[in-house]
Amino acid sequence: MQRAGRTTTTMRRLTSLIVAAVLAGGCGSTHSEKAAAERSHQPVTAARSTLPQLIPPPPPPRIKPPLPTSPGNGTHRALPIDRIPTRERVVFLTVDDGAAKDPAFAEMMRTLRVPFSMFLTDSLAGDDYPYFARLQRLGNKVQNHTLSHKRLAGLPYADQRAEICGQQNRLRKVFGERPTLFRPPYGYHDATTLRAAADCGIRATVLWRANVQPGKPGPFAGDHPLRPGDIVLFHFFPKERLEGTTLKKVTEDLLRAITAQGFAVARLEDYV
Ligand SMILES: [Zn+2]
Repeated sequence: MQRAGRTTTTMRRLTSLIVAAVLAGGCGSTHSEKAAAERSHQPVTAARSTLPQLIPPPPPPRIKPPLPTSPGNGTHRALPIDRIPTRERVVFLTVDDGAAKDPAFAEMMRTLRVPFSMFLTDSLAGDDYPYFARLQRLGNKVQNHTLSHKRLAGLPYADQRAEICGQQNRLRKVFGERPTLFRPPYGYHDATTLRAAADCGIRATVLWRANVQPGKPGPFAGDHPLRPGDIVLFHFFPKERLEGTTLKKVTEDLLRAITAQGFAVARLEDYV
């Protein structure tokens, strides 16, 4: 057992060395280029070593898995999903609201190249959309989380539609792309929500399987292990919800927990 354990550890070390080598120098560079790259990259490598080491995601599927379909009656609805049907050991990171605009979070996500989807509410994110535009330029998509973060379930169609279509128009104007995914505030939705979302051009109503809350062990404590395709709910947590820690630290812990369970973070929009 010990021998097998040592072999696995050695293999892991070798793998991370190979990954580090590829990151630092690339495959086709000459010896002197490599030496120069090593010299110039030394501080970056040192800074990186304190950040979580992530498992690289597999290439996106050539064909997206099918979305759930409406049962028989032909009504056009953006049906809810909380996971993606896949056997790949990937999970998807969704970050909601947009209350905090933390430069340290943005910098870390840029360095680690973690893909994530931003479900933005106009009343929470709208005072600094340029912050989210910078995150969008890293390749991340902006998605719809309503204009004002109302509980939609039970409201008349016109009100629900105004919340969803209103934010569709706002986000398209600001970010140049019309969202294709929608998350209802607090997850509360009814049949009217799904119809209104579809009428606003939404393909799927995105719920979640795992919810991350600062200061709570939550879904990553080991009793509810992640499963392939799980959608993870995260937030641009403002200070008052961070329990004395930082958004960067909570994110680091989350990424370490995902990696420890043998999962990579993949881009949701590559799958749906
Ligand atoms: Zn929310």
